[in-house]
Parts: sequence; C-alpha cells; structure tokens
Amino acid sequence: MRIAVAKEIEVCERRVGLVPDIVARLVKQGLEVWIEAGAGERAFFNDAAYEAAGATIIADTDKLWSEADILLKVSPPQEREDGRSEIDLLKEGAVLISFLNPLGNPVVAQKLADRKVTALSIEMIPRTTRAQSMDALSSQASIAGYKAVLIAAAALPKYFPMLTTAAGTIAPAKIFIMGAGVAGLQAIATARRLGSVVEAFDIRPAVKEEVQSLGAKFVEVKLDEETTAAGGYAKEISEASKKRTQELVTEHIKNADVVITTAQVPGKKAPLLVTEDMVKQMKPGSVIVDIAAEQGGNCACTDPGRDIVAHGVTVIGPINLPSSLPVHASQLYAKNLTSLMQLLIKDKAVEINFADDIVDAACITHAGEIRSARVKEALQAISSAVS
Ligand code: NAD
Repeated sequence: MRIAVAKEIEVCERRVGLVPDIVARLVKQGLEVWIEAGAGERAFFNDAAYEAAGATIIADTDKLWSEADILLKVSPPQEREDGRSEIDLLKEGAVLISFLNPLGNPVVAQKLADRKVTALSIEMIPRTTRAQSMDALSSQASIAGYKAVLIAAAALPKYFPMLTTAAGTIAPAKIFIMGAGVAGLQAIATARRLGSVVEAFDIRPAVKEEVQSLGAKFVEVKLDEETTAAGGYAKEISEASKKRTQELVTEHIKNADVVITTAQVPGKKAPLLVTEDMVKQMKPGSVIVDIAAEQGGNCACTDPGRDIVAHGVTVIGPINLPSSLPVHASQLYAKNLTSLMQLLIKDKAVEINFADDIVDAACITHAGEIRSARVKEALQAISSAVS
C-alpha cells in the first residue's frame, strides 16, 4: 500500500500534504510513503527530513502519480505545463484526497469520475464531532482568521492596543468582524490579543455566545427567516434580509478602524456585506481585509489578490491565506489527512466503506460515477447555463 504526496504546481500554494513527523508514524504502521522531490520545500520541510522519517523521494512526477494507491494533495489537480491534466496521471482505482472545490468547479469531479478515481474531497467532510480531527476546512480557516488580523494590523496607520504614554493616551483600534465561523472566531481572538476593541456580526444567532466568550460584542440582527442550514452552515438569505442587515451594520462599519469579512455560504458566491457606499462612509486610513475574496468577496471594492485604496480605505483581498503560514498549515493539514486515511486503510490495504458517514459524505467519485448529489446538481447547473 503506497501513499504518495505530490508537489503542488499551483503558484500560490506553499503547503504540502504530509510533514516528516506524520510520515514517520505512517511508516511505523508498515505503510510505504513516497514524497515527490521538493514537495515540502516551500513549507520548509526538505527531502532529507522526509527521507530520515522513512519516506522514499521520487523525482519522476509521472511515476509518483501513476503508482500511488492513495495520492495526497492540497490544491485541486490542474493542467500541467505539458498540457496534460494531473488527473490523467492517476491509475484507475487510485484514491485521491485533496481540496477539490467540487461545488465551485464540478467539472473536476466529472474528470475524476471519467478516470475512475475514488476522490475524497476535503470540503465535503461533515462538520461532526467524530470528524473534527479530519476537518481541514477548520484547521485552515483558523489560520486565515489569524493572518487576516495581522495583515490588517500591519496596514492600519494606527496602534491596535490602548496605550497610556507620557505623550498622551492612545485609544484602542475598533475592529468589526463580519461572519463568526471558524475564521471569524479566530480573527476575534487574535484582534483581542492585540488589544483592540472587537465587535462581530453573523446572521446565525447561534454564534452569539461564542463571540461573547471571546470578549467581543455581538451585533445582533433579527431576521424573519431561517438563516442556518443543515450542518450548521449559513443559508443564502433573501434580498430583503440582505438589505436589512446592510442597513443595520452600516453604523458599525462606519465607526470601525478595521473591518474583517469572512462570510461564506457553501457552494455559493460570497454574500455582499460591504457596499461601495459603506466604504465611502469609513474613516480615511481604515482597512478592510476580505477573506472571502476568492469566493467573490464580501466587499464591493475587493480586487482578489490585490491591495487597493478605495475612497481612502485600504481594501485587501488576500488569496490562499493558510498558505502564507505553510509550516503550521501543512502540519495541521497532514494530521487531518492522516485521521481521514485511518478510515480508509484496513490491514495495509485500501478499503472504502460507504457505511461510514464520513467516507460516504467525503467521497465524491467512485468506480466511474459521481456519488455526491450536490456535485451532480452543481454540474447540472453548469450544463443548463451553457445550453
Ligand atoms: P463558513 O466559512 O461557511 O462561513 C463563515 C461565516 O459566515 C459563518 O459563520 C456564516 O454563518 C457567516 N455568514 C454567511 N452569510 C453571512 C451573511 N450574509 N452575513 C453575515 N455572516 C454570514 O463557516 P465555517 O467557519 O466553515 O463554519 C460553518 C459551520 O460549521 C458553523 O456552524 C461552525 O460552527 C460549524 N463547525 C462545526 C464543527 C464541528 O462540529 N466539528 C467544526 C467546524 C465548524
């Protein structure tokens, strides 16, 4: 049974699927681990460290992909420089575990099914207590929340904490965090650690206690509709509710030195929370960090991947924040993947057990079929739009 870790070809991706400590544990279990040469370099894990942990370093990319029983990746597979798709390198029946963005880009799922690959999508792992150790969405979102605050602190032309000095007293910065999921809660905790005054808002009322327990004020917006979907995720809200929330949060945005937006609805474009008119009302020098930039952005002025100044406000739309902390992001991701693999390996062989609710939910393609109803729907929506 061979587990292989591919080198990421996506330019922004610095993370790697396994780290040396975890490799050592897998090798101890009698599993063979192949690491593509240089796979961990951008996360500061060199080939020698993997070799010392018992892995075999493979320089031939095609060999690594085509002889893997389980292939581990971070970013979804893509086209290579030679025009071939990474997916075509996998052998039929191989298992691929990676972020696959199957609701945003379901075409990848179709390609994986055509290649008869058993694909487990990290995004589809249920948010249940048993799946917590495999929940890479959470481990990586937490990094994004932390880093967003550091980026904001670096861009703000002010202190974050209150300071009493001989030259006078500095008032603490006011931070408004929109979306209090995993990233938002870590952003609150980080902003509080830096001494700022924090307010947070979410359409799911269930997060109020968590926000308050971190020492932030919860900005409550009562809506006349259900805002929580299955699995605790947010639902897309009506236009009327969007308008109402925008009205209610405008004052908080106007008074904030920093706004950090993290709001997402799975499989949908990120909701627009900060309009251009709201940006115009903010103080000059204020900062917005839009973690949802890649999903379309929560702010109308966001330009994904760029820092811009709009109406005197610095608007930052970072891409792939977890990758900017590649050591810990890879360490946590590797732990998540290993927990998931424990459900797939029996007596040193792959055994896919669909009676397990986690495997059932995460496995989007198997034996030439797309298994996930949500992915099939997303694919259907694309073909309807084209025809
Ligand atoms: P997410 O990344 O999908 O969204 C981020 C936040 O944006 C969410 O809190 C959401 O409610 C909020 N949001 C969406 N639309 C909004 C709008 N229009 N205005 C304001 N806020 C809006 O969320 P996530 O961090 O992945 O968490 C999703 C759910 O999963 C949460 O309930 C979380 O507590 C739960 N969760 C459970 C476990 C577990 O039980 N093992 C682990 C992690 C997360």
